[in-house]
Amino acid sequence: MSQSSASAPVVYHLRPLHTGAHLYEVSCRIERPAADGQLLSLPAWIPGSYLVRDYARHVVRFQAESGGEPVQARKIDKHTWRVAPVAGELLIRITVYAADPSVRGAWLDDEQGFVNGVCVFLRVHGEEQAPSIVHIDPPDLPPNPGSASGWRLSTGLQRLTGGQGEFGAFRASSYSDLIDQPVLMGQLTTVEYMAAGVPHALVLAGLPNPDRGRLQADLARICTWHIDFFGRPAPMARYVFLARVSIEGHGGLEHRNSAALACRRDDVPQPGVTGNEAGYRRFLGLVSHEYFHAWHVKRIRPAEFVAADLGAEAYTHQLWIFEGITSYYDDLALRRCGLITVEQYLEILGKSLTRLYRTAGRRHQTLEEASFDTWIKYYRPDENTANATVSYYLKGSLVALALDLELRSRTAGTCSLDAVMRTLWQEYGADDSPGLPEGRFEQLAENLSGLDLKAFFGQSLRTTIDPPVGILLAQFGIRLHMRSRESEADAGGVRGRHDERPRAWLGLKANTSDGHVRISHVAANSPGERAGISAGDELLALAGRRVTANNWETTLARLVPGDDLVCHLFRNHQLVKVVCQPVPAPRDTCYLTLDPEADAAAVVRRNAWLGLP
Ligand SMILES: [Zn+2]
Repeated sequence: MSQSSASAPVVYHLRPLHTGAHLYEVSCRIERPAADGQLLSLPAWIPGSYLVRDYARHVVRFQAESGGEPVQARKIDKHTWRVAPVAGELLIRITVYAADPSVRGAWLDDEQGFVNGVCVFLRVHGEEQAPSIVHIDPPDLPPNPGSASGWRLSTGLQRLTGGQGEFGAFRASSYSDLIDQPVLMGQLTTVEYMAAGVPHALVLAGLPNPDRGRLQADLARICTWHIDFFGRPAPMARYVFLARVSIEGHGGLEHRNSAALACRRDDVPQPGVTGNEAGYRRFLGLVSHEYFHAWHVKRIRPAEFVAADLGAEAYTHQLWIFEGITSYYDDLALRRCGLITVEQYLEILGKSLTRLYRTAGRRHQTLEEASFDTWIKYYRPDENTANATVSYYLKGSLVALALDLELRSRTAGTCSLDAVMRTLWQEYGADDSPGLPEGRFEQLAENLSGLDLKAFFGQSLRTTIDPPVGILLAQFGIRLHMRSRESEADAGGVRGRHDERPRAWLGLKANTSDGHVRISHVAANSPGERAGISAGDELLALAGRRVTANNWETTLARLVPGDDLVCHLFRNHQLVKVVCQPVPAPRDTCYLTLDPEADAAAVVRRNAWLGLP
C-alpha cells in the first residue's frame, strides 16, 4: 500500500488471501463511524441480474477493531452487521469465499481472480454517497515459474497509482460506482482499440493468443455503431470488456464503463485456428448486447431501480423494455454495421421466432408479468418453466421488432424505434434522472409517431397473444414460413430439407450427460404429457427396445406418428410402463426468406430497416 495515496472517508483493501481455498481478505477503514454504532451490509442482489443471491452468505469471518483493540459486532439481519460505537477510526476485516464462476459473483483460484463489488465491499451505511479508495494487491504466490506468476489487473475503476495493468490504488465516486466496477486479475491479454475517439479494451483471461486484428476491427465497428446510434459524444471516457474465457459458458453482465463476459474459447478467433464463425457471431452478439446496456439500463433506468437499495427485490413491469429492446438491437446492430449479412440476420430472427412458438408458457404469462415475476420465475428455472412462463428477453425482442416495423410502416418511415430510443436517451439518460416511470415508454412512442398504439401495446404487453410479426414482415418484403422440425436439434431459422412427411413427436426432452436418458422436460399438451411421463423419469425402452444416451435421438427419429408406443421407465426406482401415442411434429419451426415479389416500396422499407443502401 502506498503511504502517499489520497485519503477518503472509506478505504478498502482487497487481497487474495488463499487462492487454493478461494478466499479473499477485504478490509474497510471508516474514518468517522456513526456515533451510535456503525451499520455495514452486503447487497442481496446485483443490478442486471434479478435474483436474491444474498452475497453475505459467503462471508466467512467478520472482525472489527479500533485503535488496535477488537470491537464488538453483531448481525441484525441476514446481511447487516452493527458495530459498537467507537471514538476513532473503525477497521473492519472480512474473509470472503469466492468460487462462483458466473459473471454475477466472485472467483479466486491459482489462475485468476474476478470480483464483483457486491461480493466483497461492505456498504458503510451513511457513507453511500461518499467517494472511497480501493487498494488491490496481487496474490502472494510461491515463485513457481509457469504457474501463476505475472498477474495483471483490469477494471473500469479510476486508477490512482500504478501503470496500466498493475495492481495499485483506485477510486470510486460512491458505493454504487464501486459495486458497478468489476475487477479481473490473472494472466491477462489486452486488445485495445478506439471507438468514436474513446479508448476501449477487450481484456481476456484464459486466452493468451487471440486474433487481435480481427477483434480490434470488429469490436471498434460495433462500439462506434452504438455510440452513433445514441449520438456522440459517448457517455464514457473509457470502456473495458472483462472476458473470462473457458471451455464452456456464455453470458455477460453490463456496467456503466465495463462489462463482464463469460465466453467459450472456440467462439473467440485465434490466428492459425480454424474459425467457428457461428460461435464468433454469438460472441459479437454478446459484446453488442452488453455495450447497448451502457446506455439502456445503466443510464436510462427504470424508475423502480433508481431508488432500489439492493437489500430486497425491486419490482418492475418494464424489463421487456430494457432486456427485450436490447436483445433486439444486439443482433440488428451486427447487421447494420455490416458484420453479418441479411440472410444471417434473418436466420437469427427465424430461430428466435421458433423459440417463441415452442414456448407453451407464452399462453400463460404476459410480457409484463414475466418482468414482474423475474425474481421467482425467469431466474429460477425448473422443468416446468417452458410450460408456464415466457422470457422477456425473447418475447421482448420480438415485440421490439414488431414495434419498430409498425412505427416504420405506419409513419412511412418518418418514425422508428431508433427515434424512440434516442428520445428516451435524451430525456432519461442523465446521471441525476429520476428514471423511466411505468407507462412513459408507451406514451413517448405515441407522441413521437403521432400514432394510437394503445391496441398494439395492450395486446403485446398485457395479453398472451403473439406479436403480429409475420404480417409486419410481409410489408418489408420478408416472408415468414412455418414447418415441422426435422430433429431434436433443429433450432429453426433455415428452410428444411423436405416437409412432406413430418416426423413423430413425443414432446420429451432428455438429459443424457450421465449415460442414462433422464426426462428433463415434458411439453404441455404433448403425447408424453398425455401418457403421464414426468420430468425426472428415466427412460429405459421404447417399443421394447432399449434406449440409451447414444441411440436416443435416432430412436426418436424413427418413430411413426399414430402407432401405440409402449414406454418403460424407472420412476422412484420402480419400473413403470405407459403407452404413448406419437403425433406428427407440430409446425412450430420458423424461417424467413426475402420475398422475390416484394414491391419497390417494401424493398425501400426493408433496406432502411436493415441498414442497406
Ligand atoms: Zn441484457
